[in-house]
Amino acid sequence: MIKIITAREKETFTLGRCIAKVLEKGDIVCLTGDLGAGKTTISKSIAKEIGIDEYITSPTFTIVNEYEGKVKLNHFDVYRISDVEEMYEIGYEEYFFSDAINIIEWANLVEEIIPENNIWIDIRLGEDYNHRVFTIKSGNSFVKEKVNKIQNLWNE
Ligand code: ADP
Ligand code: MG
Repeated sequence: MIKIITAREKETFTLGRCIAKVLEKGDIVCLTGDLGAGKTTISKSIAKEIGIDEYITSPTFTIVNEYEGKVKLNHFDVYRISDVEEMYEIGYEEYFFSDAINIIEWANLVEEIIPENNIWIDIRLGEDYNHRVFTIKSGNSFVKEKVNKIQNLWNE
């Protein structure tokens, strides 16, 4: 588990790029944190590093938006689903067990169906208005090295 503090939005963008650099096809990035924590902000920066120039917004009405960059990216926001059953209805397995990268905002709401090979990122507000505290954990031992790599890239 690593902890990284960003002092402004621009630093969160830098962190997003570090995260994107360790991601490979099939990886799952879970984002948790209150409204305004920075889940969409970090999603955007990851997407940009993956080579997606499209404007990324939270897929509020659709649950998932699909993008094509250097690799495919599926961006989920499950805030509005009322039951995990809705994930079965959209055929989530086709997304999660594919060779795309998946980012899931509000992943805690659908935790039971998330594969173990996830990078779990919790975002909290920090002491100052523009500070954000990122806690990054690996879901299993296979992604542990990636989390360590994020820390190394951030330190550079
Ligand atoms: P969420 O998707 O978690 O609801 P957003 O990414 O949409 O949150 O919004 C985060 C808001 O917080 C943006 O308005 C952004 O400008 C602001 N912000 C301030 N400081 C930071 C920071 N250090 N990192 C990320 N966002 C920040
Ligand atoms: Mg959002």
